[in-house]
This record gives sequence, C-alpha cells and structure tokens, in this order.
Amino acid sequence: MGYDVVIAGAGAAGCVAASRLSEDPKRSVFLLEAGPDYPDPTMVPPEILSIVSPAHTHDWGYTSEPPFTEGRCASPAVSSSAAAPQPMLR
Ligand SMILES: Cc1cc2nc3c(=O)[nH]c(=O)nc-3n(C[C@H](O)[C@H](O)[C@H](O)COP(=O)(O)OP(=O)(O)OC[C@H]3O[C@@H](n4cnc5c(N)ncnc54)[C@H](O)[C@@H]3O)c2cc1C
Repeated sequence: MGYDVVIAGAGAAGCVAASRLSEDPKRSVFLLEAGPDYPDPTMVPPEILSIVSPAHTHDWGYTSEPPFTEGRCASPAVSSSAAAPQPMLR
C-alpha cells in the first residue's frame, strides 16, 4: 500500500500538516508516531503534565547544531500570568 505523503512525527507540526494535507480526499496521508499513546488522560505520567520542568522521560535526546545559545533555550521559563504560571520559550 502506498501513500502520497508520509509524515514522521505526530507532534505539533506533524498533526497540523497531516490535517491540512488530508483535507483533499484524493490525497492519502500516513502519519507515523514513535512515541507512546495515552488515550485515557488518567494514564498520562505526571511529569508530562508538569509545567515547571521538561519531561525527560519522553525526550528523544536529539540535540541541535549549533547548540541552543543566546536568546533561545530548550527548557521553559516560567512567567506569572493572571490565572496561573505558564511555561514559555524565551
Ligand atoms: C517543556 C516544554 C514546554 C513548552 N511550552 C510551550 C508553550 O507553552 N507554547 C508553545 O508554543 N510551545 C511550547 N513548547 C515548544 C513546543 O512544544 C515545540 O515548539 C513544538 O512541540 C515543536 O513541534 P514539532 O512538531 O516540531 O515537534 P514535536 O511536537 O516534538 O513533535 C515531534 C514528534 O515526532 C515524534 N518522533 C520523533 N522521532 C520520530 C521517529 N523516528 N519516528 C516517528 N516519530 C518520531 C516524537 O515522538 C514527537 O511526537 C514547549 C516545549 C517544551 C519542551
């Protein structure tokens, strides 16, 4: 079986790309995800739900080249908002 488009990674970008591309009923799209699935929210590990620290248990260990430097970071900064602290990228 063949597909018109194969997308590796059902993350933020992959899901949007797959959704938009599959709007055309003539185009077949295969979305491949290697990570775990948690269909029931109660099964999601607490570190995934934490807003204060990255979930290293679900980190593929990819690094960037060059490494993150000035003005960019791989872990969230925490800022205060009206409702609750929100993780943000600098
Ligand atoms: C702790 C934290 C907090 C964040 N908070 C915010 C926020 O508040 N607001 C915001 O805008 N951004 C936030 N970000 C950033 C945001 O999560 C990323 O910018 C965004 O998820 C990147 O999207 P992506 O599709 O490139 O990658 P991802 O969303 O990481 O998707 C990549 C997917 O590919 C899968 N994958 C990897 N390798 C393979 C393989 N070989 N085969 C198949 N699948 C594979 C992974 O499992 C993953 O599902 C946060 C990031 C972190 C780490």
